[in-house]
This record gives sequence, C-alpha cells and structure tokens, in this order.
Amino acid sequence: MTTSVAGPEADLSTTVPAPGRPAAAIDPGRVADLIAQLLVELGEDPTREGLIGTPERVAAWWSAFLSPDDAATATCFTESQLSDQLVIVGGMSVWSLCEHHMLPMNLQVTAGYVPDGEVVGLSKFGRIARHFAGRLQVQERFTRQVAEHLIGVIAREDVAVAVRGVHLCMSMRGVRMEEARTTTVHTGGRFGTDPVLSQQFLTVAAGQWGAP
Ligand SMILES: [Zn+2]
Repeated sequence: MTTSVAGPEADLSTTVPAPGRPAAAIDPGRVADLIAQLLVELGEDPTREGLIGTPERVAAWWSAFLSPDDAATATCFTESQLSDQLVIVGGMSVWSLCEHHMLPMNLQVTAGYVPDGEVVGLSKFGRIARHFAGRLQVQERFTRQVAEHLIGVIAREDVAVAVRGVHLCMSMRGVRMEEARTTTVHTGGRFGTDPVLSQQFLTVAAGQWGAP
C-alpha cells in the first residue's frame, strides 16, 4: 500500500465542474449590523471598548468561512501503469459549523481510492475537504459530499472516505461529552465489495486518528 502521484507534467488532465456553492457572496456591512443587533439583544453594549470592531471582525470571518478554496477543478494525471494500488490521503483537518447549533466541528478526513490509469493530484484532497466544510454542515452529509465529489473526479465508484468529528455542540452544550468522537465512513465500489481493501483503508484511517 503506497501513496503516489504523477508529476504535473503528465500528458493528460481532465477536470470536473464545481459543486454547488452554499450561498451568494454575503454583504459584510449588513452582517456586521446584524451582529451588533445581536449583541444588544444579548444584553451587551456594542460600543463599549472591548467590542469596538467586533461586528466587523465577525462579518469578515463569515465571508472567509463561506468562501473556502475552490475545489472546482480536480486534476487527474494519466499514469497508465498504475492500477490496483490503494491510495490513501489522511491527516486532513478542517473546521465546519454544525447547522443545528452553529457551533464549530473539527473534522479529521481520510480519503482513499483505487487508481485505474489515472491519479488525482494529491493537493486536491485537502481543497475538496475544505470546500465542503465551508458552510453550515452535518458530518454525515460532509462525508457523502466529499465521497461523491471524488467519485466524479475519478469517474468510478472505488472511493472511501472516513471522517472523525469533534462537535462543540456535544462538548460545550447539551450532554457535555468532551471525549465524544463521531465517525462516519463512506465506502463505494470495490471498497464495498472487497473486505480486504476496505479493512486496509479503515486500518490506515484509524491510524491517522490515534486513540479513540
Ligand atoms: Zn450540533
């Protein structure tokens, strides 16, 4: 099991269209006004010293969060001798926002696929993860979206995505279980029919995460 990629000078590349963006560009001035109103409703004085500029900073953060790197084009490189090798990219950590509570969730992503004459540019994996994290999300949908995007990139179903999430809505509110981790796994194509391949992927994914 190795991780490999062809050089960018490979002779053929293909691209896939962008997945849907969550929203049109936001109006930072309008968002800042609303944040100032929220502060008032929460019993704060947005004009006090410590809160000067806070609504603008929060609005700038929302703009940046909703405009992550574009995963629009994932490039595949021809590597005609390469097939039946399990390629796994792990250690990708992205932040998203739980859409039920608007609290952060940290998602540790491991993605794998089996190339068949083409390989995906490795840097794209992180961009794809960040792209789908930059919106109000649930971990289950995020996992599926990353998998479906990769399926589109390689034009085959042989994709596996495993995600381990830490949700602040579990840690700092409600049940307050700070050690809780949520794991979601999508396995398609050969990962769904070949138990050895599936187990190899899950073993590597679990190794990326360390102790549960
Ligand atoms: Zn939540």
